[in-house]
Amino acid sequence: MADRSSIEWTEATWNPTTGCDRVAPGCDNCYALALAKRLKAMGAEKYQHDGDPRTSGPGFGVTIHPGSLDIPRSWKTPRVVFVNSMSDLFHAKVPKKFVQQVFRVMAETPQHTYQVLTKRSLRLARLASELDWPPNVWMGVSVESDDVLDRVDHLRQVPAAVRFLSCEPLLGPLPNLDLTGIAWVIAGGESGPDHRPMDGDWVRAIRDTCVSTGTAFFFKQWGGRTPKAGGRSLDGRTWDGRPAIRRPGLVNMPG
Ligand code: SF4
Repeated sequence: MADRSSIEWTEATWNPTTGCDRVAPGCDNCYALALAKRLKAMGAEKYQHDGDPRTSGPGFGVTIHPGSLDIPRSWKTPRVVFVNSMSDLFHAKVPKKFVQQVFRVMAETPQHTYQVLTKRSLRLARLASELDWPPNVWMGVSVESDDVLDRVDHLRQVPAAVRFLSCEPLLGPLPNLDLTGIAWVIAGGESGPDHRPMDGDWVRAIRDTCVSTGTAFFFKQWGGRTPKAGGRSLDGRTWDGRPAIRRPGLVNMPG
């Protein structure tokens, strides 16, 4: 699926792979898993392969889509693109050669800015030296709790122009967070019927670390039964920081 996105920190999504397996507590209420089930029921072509019922679900089996690789080449207007909103590009079942093809498309479409996010940070670190890292690729890892801070260390080994963290759904405090080498942090609470509450002090501590280290900070949402239930205001204002977007022929634009 390649379309405009409702995700606050991006503009479009591009899914050259779909499907995944739950790998950490942050995956417990995976929106993509639930959405894939609905898309399968609607007959969507990309979501007909089922995953392991213990870790995945209907329509969420890991599938590569070579036919989707060239979609960004057809977008005339520059876009900020979230890569694989419906899977994890660094899942072990995505062949290295396909990951390299995705990175090649990103390198050959410098008018777009790509945001790639993974929980499989070890595989990311292992493959990093075999991938192109053009300046329009931003690489991020999810950090939902202090237990997974090794993902940030793996990310620091990657020569991406912009390294970022997605602390969403934030499930606990991050007292040991080190932002060395990190340009951007997104934080937010969980949404949906089984959402787990986020303590405001957890997110304030992350924001304060960002402010004191000069790291861009984006507060996505408090969470609740729906994504908009708790709003986006933190201490009386919104926090929409993000790195500057570099586009060929354009002066940098602060986001
Ligand atoms: S890694 Fe991401 S896409 Fe995969 S199951 Fe977890 S939350 Fe869902």
